[in-house]
Amino acid sequence: MLSISIPRPKCLQKPLAVPQRHMFGPGPSNVPPRIIEAGAKPVIGHMHPELLQIMDDIKSGIQYIFQTQNPMTLAVSSTGHSAMECAFVNSVEPGDGVLVAVNGLWGERAMDIAERLGSRVNTIVAPPGAFFSNAEIEQALSKYRPVMFFLAHGESSTGVLHPLDGIGQLCHKYNCLFVVDSVASFGSAPLCMDQQDIDIVYTGSQKVLNAPPGTAPISFSERACQKIFNRKTKPVSFALDLKWLASYWGCDGKPSRVYHHTGPVSGFYSLRESLAVFAEEGLEKSWERHGKVAEYFHAGLENMGLKLFVKEKKARLPAVTTIVAPHGYDWKEIQSYIMKTHDLEISGGLGPSAGLVLRVGLMGCNSTKENVDMVLAALKDALKHCHKSKV
Ligand code: PMP
Repeated sequence: MLSISIPRPKCLQKPLAVPQRHMFGPGPSNVPPRIIEAGAKPVIGHMHPELLQIMDDIKSGIQYIFQTQNPMTLAVSSTGHSAMECAFVNSVEPGDGVLVAVNGLWGERAMDIAERLGSRVNTIVAPPGAFFSNAEIEQALSKYRPVMFFLAHGESSTGVLHPLDGIGQLCHKYNCLFVVDSVASFGSAPLCMDQQDIDIVYTGSQKVLNAPPGTAPISFSERACQKIFNRKTKPVSFALDLKWLASYWGCDGKPSRVYHHTGPVSGFYSLRESLAVFAEEGLEKSWERHGKVAEYFHAGLENMGLKLFVKEKKARLPAVTTIVAPHGYDWKEIQSYIMKTHDLEISGGLGPSAGLVLRVGLMGCNSTKENVDMVLAALKDALKHCHKSKV
């Protein structure tokens, strides 16, 4: 006879407590009521025809947001990291050469993932806040001859928006797949997968899309599929195996769908609704709004005497702004003062930018001039009240 020795946790007897906050860090962003309500609809089976229809709607939405006709387009049932792993685990076999552009944390993570797969990893490295020229990229492609080149379009750790034009063509000249991380850039700056010869692109649900974290749109080009479906070894991950995902999502051209895993049903509802909201505004309008609001924000910061971490205007990521940590202050005190006093999240640096910057994300519905004014007022207040050293 089994006896219970671990008592019921006292904490679970209290009601769930969740504060209302202005989510102006690098993600997650605020989720508007329409998307929350979608996620609260009744749970149905993960293979019910109505859910398969919702998944088809999601596929169409992702084809729209990435501007691609790729049939191999779906959402990974997890966060941006899993989409990143899905790109690598399927495309890279042990011994393959991988080239990674490292100008912040996301390049470092990509390198880590590629190393775990037993690939030969080479990097091009730029200091935090900087980016690469096409000439530097071409030089590395011709030197290392990788099967895959990874680039973060939006380096959320440093606030850099990387130019994309011409890189896809360069990769194809060297018979290499072009993989783009758009988790932090998608919807805030132009990206058109097919026109820009991108082979794999992914994003997350919790940033410009304003859905809860937990689903990650991804798309694979015909060229990527050729490499993936002709590999000699099985991908090391079952959960992220594209063959299986394709049969669950109906991307393989077959009429019947095959159970692979239990999709996050409520997460799919929210993602579908976030794509609908996004499509109502439209890509161009979203890019334009994020660009204008970011410019307004950057001007406001400079008027306050604060410095932007990314020197070149055109390389500033509209969705996530990096501000040089104000001299003489402890950035952690600023962050926690703003959280306590204004119920507003901003964040410090991450990886190579840790201690150097404050990061503010204004994404999707949060990207408005009113919210910029709110952040500027909170920062002014913090600079007035937080401790400033004399040095
Ligand atoms: N790439 C970039 C550029 C990101 O900003 C993030 C999240 N901050 C990720 C990947 C990973 O996404 P997630 O936290 O959803 O796993």
